[in-house]
Amino acid sequence: MSLNLKAIVIKGNNAKEKDKNILLFSLEKGKIWVTLKGVRGDKAKMKYAKEPFCFGEYIVEEGKVNNVVTGMDIIEDFNEIAKDVDKYFEGNAMLEIVQSLDFEGERERYEVFMSLINGLKILAFHKTTRLSVLLKFMLNIFEIYGMRLYSEKCSCCGGDFHDNIYINHQVGELVCSSCKTFQSELIGKGEFNLIRLLSNLPYEKLPNFPEEVGEKTLKLLVKNFYNRFDKNLKMVGILN
Ligand SMILES: [Zn+2]
Repeated sequence: MSLNLKAIVIKGNNAKEKDKNILLFSLEKGKIWVTLKGVRGDKAKMKYAKEPFCFGEYIVEEGKVNNVVTGMDIIEDFNEIAKDVDKYFEGNAMLEIVQSLDFEGERERYEVFMSLINGLKILAFHKTTRLSVLLKFMLNIFEIYGMRLYSEKCSCCGGDFHDNIYINHQVGELVCSSCKTFQSELIGKGEFNLIRLLSNLPYEKLPNFPEEVGEKTLKLLVKNFYNRFDKNLKMVGILN
């Protein structure tokens, strides 16, 4: 059977001869491994189709052994991301997140797909504060899975935040100083404000912030991601 998939390349492995197996994240089928035949040569017709961040319409023939790509049209070329090392690592971390997620239903798959594509568009074609797209994407992921991180009031008692604000790592929510437990971590004012802003603004209006605040916020979100999804994100080039 032939499939028509709007999909983005997450990663690829070399296979025999000049073939390449690539992991696609598709709107229609979620994550799916497909094979590109003879695509590693310079003159290969579909050589761009194997590169991470390539977003296109893939025609895939489903086979008993593997799924073979027989055609591809580029929808959007996010190659710009690979030209800037900071953007590359940021985009790569977004792909790593998608790779680690399980999709329970069509709605999650659709929303994660749209959030990824919209985020990569901003990352590729706009000037952004380092980590802003990645942080926004992560906050979107929590929200899509029904685990929004930001709350205006204490998630435990429902009261206003008066002084310090904590993240309760056991439940992954923000709590006040009266409700904090020994598993809660103090969040700096800068990080809290950034989480608030990013939660309420679209990709098109990402704010500027100091690099240090972005890095601290990322560490919080990566820890929260681990507690929520039981997945340890490596984020090569960013966290190490
Ligand atoms: Zn409280």
